Amino acid sequence: MPQNQLIDPPFNDLTGQDRVAQFLTAVIRSDTPAHAYLFAGPLGSGKTEATGAFAQALLCEQGGGDACDTCLRVAHGTHPDFHVVPPLGAAGYLAEQIQEIIASAQRAPVRAHRKVYLLTRGDLLSGHAANALLKTLEEPPADTIFVLMARNRDAVLETIVSRCQVLPFRRIPEDEAIALVVEKTGVAPEDARIALAATGGSLIYAAQFMRSEERRNLRVATLEVLERLVHADDASVLDSAKLLIVKMRAPLDVVKMEQQRQLEQSRDFLSTGNLSRLETQLRRELTSRERETIGEILDVTSSWIRDIMVVQLPRSSERPVNVDALTNITKLAEQVSLAACVRALDAVREAERQIQYNVSVQLALEVMLFALREELTDTRGPAPRE
Ligand SMILES: [Zn+2]
Repeated sequence: MPQNQLIDPPFNDLTGQDRVAQFLTAVIRSDTPAHAYLFAGPLGSGKTEATGAFAQALLCEQGGGDACDTCLRVAHGTHPDFHVVPPLGAAGYLAEQIQEIIASAQRAPVRAHRKVYLLTRGDLLSGHAANALLKTLEEPPADTIFVLMARNRDAVLETIVSRCQVLPFRRIPEDEAIALVVEKTGVAPEDARIALAATGGSLIYAAQFMRSEERRNLRVATLEVLERLVHADDASVLDSAKLLIVKMRAPLDVVKMEQQRQLEQSRDFLSTGNLSRLETQLRRELTSRERETIGEILDVTSSWIRDIMVVQLPRSSERPVNVDALTNITKLAEQVSLAACVRALDAVREAERQIQYNVSVQLALEVMLFALREELTDTRGPAPRE
């Protein structure tokens, strides 16, 4: 296939995004990367995989795509010259985060001949934080490359976009996404669909989800809480919120153990200063993994409510996602009105907002579960059928 000759490892893993893969291959072959890139495309289009592959290619002496120490560290997020920076403020990046990046960009790389900064939400750069970054984005130190990610190019400030080389990622249709998760993990298509629904449609998170027993258990616990909800008294609703908090800890404990291992391995070659920076980076990663885990509870809840709606609309071409909870979903579809389902979905979105604004997770879950119980016991009947 002539097209494949245009794609080198590690970009041959970017399934569904041949044009991006060809472009990045050309950048690495010519060894003339730009200062800054914006990877723009919807959730599930493979941006995260692409940034990982690009960072490997930029930092590895063999151009990435092998199992060398550099490539493995980039893949595990522990390479000291690959800085992954999620926004720390509820509304986006903090000015001091950007100051930290600018200061660290002035320092020499630790292991590689370059440094790569990945800002995971380019759309959440605004105000002082954005202004502070502009100059560095235009003229970063010669060994520094910025990669920004955003779900929508139009959500990124024009002053930022104009300083970046923009790479558009195409939306991957659901059937194709399911096939990719199946190919990556070897699971059955219906399980791949469940994993995609539990992780907001992200291919990479869906594949991780299928490999994590703890995260799959959390999904099952969430569905069990939802199934019991219509018959639950106030005390049981409160207990359910507590139970979900406990169940959340298992996948996070796995992350903590993995981090501990990474720290041990890094002690041999990192200076005290770089080690403490790595510790800070790992702490932040843990915070962002905590948010993802809560996000999974909310995504599972939303997909379960949407399933009730799908069953209620028999002419819909969609099929329910949570096939393992179908008995209960079908029963609720006969009792609950479509309008109540819409309000229930709003309650989930409200919980998401509350948590974003640092309301305690337990409180947000409690409020959401009470709201869901009220909507799901709404007896005004189901949507009219034809
Ligand atoms: Zn390598």
